[in-house]
Amino acid sequence: MLDADFFRRWMTAAAVSVDREAERLTALDSPIGDADHGANLQRGFRAVTAALEKEAPATPGAVLQLAGRQLISTVGGASGPLYGTLLRRTGKALGDDGEVTEEQLAQALRAGVDGVMALGGAAPGDKTMVDALVPAVDGLATSFGAAAEAAEEGAVATTPLQARKGRASYLGERSIGHQDPGATSSALLIAALVEAAG
Ligand code: ADP
Ligand code: MG
Ligand code: MG
Repeated sequence: MLDADFFRRWMTAAAVSVDREAERLTALDSPIGDADHGANLQRGFRAVTAALEKEAPATPGAVLQLAGRQLISTVGGASGPLYGTLLRRTGKALGDDGEVTEEQLAQALRAGVDGVMALGGAAPGDKTMVDALVPAVDGLATSFGAAAEAAEEGAVATTPLQARKGRASYLGERSIGHQDPGATSSALLIAALVEAAG
């Protein structure tokens, strides 16, 4: 079973990973964006860890909803509302239970990813975070490790795609040949699940 402490560890591991990879995320956002994705998420996840230390929410759902609110209010840009929606929706779907199963998390994350697709209008193949998140949710049926691997493969597979959503879509065919920054950070978020579990 996964308790609130597990979800706090997940968010903390994500923050550490985003800190470590911030320069790389911003570098990926340079040729097909505005070179701010690493800085955006770094600001957001620092706010998440600060808020979690201050408030210590008691349930998994409350942890993710607090994290989502922080991301919405601090990240800005396209990715803030999208990541915020992902975590808030996932948190809401987890309800008030003090502990949840991995299967409940998989179902809730699916609701969160559906929320991202509804808000941003992106489908798999549009070269966005959705390309990492959808395979991650499928992989969660097997294990956290399988989810992390699927998310990383999904992120790498955005390279040959032409962007159809977000800033990168303004480049048309010139967006081809670059890995999507949001898919890359989404893979980090899912990989942090493995760290939280270990
Ligand atoms: P901005 O583009 O506003 O500077 P970021 O650089 O923080 O925001 O985030 C860019 C990432 O957001 C992209 O790499 C992509 O993965 C994701 N993104 C942008 N628009 C959408 C969308 N409509 N649906 C899903 N993801 C999106
Ligand atoms: Mg950007
Ligand atoms: Mg920006």
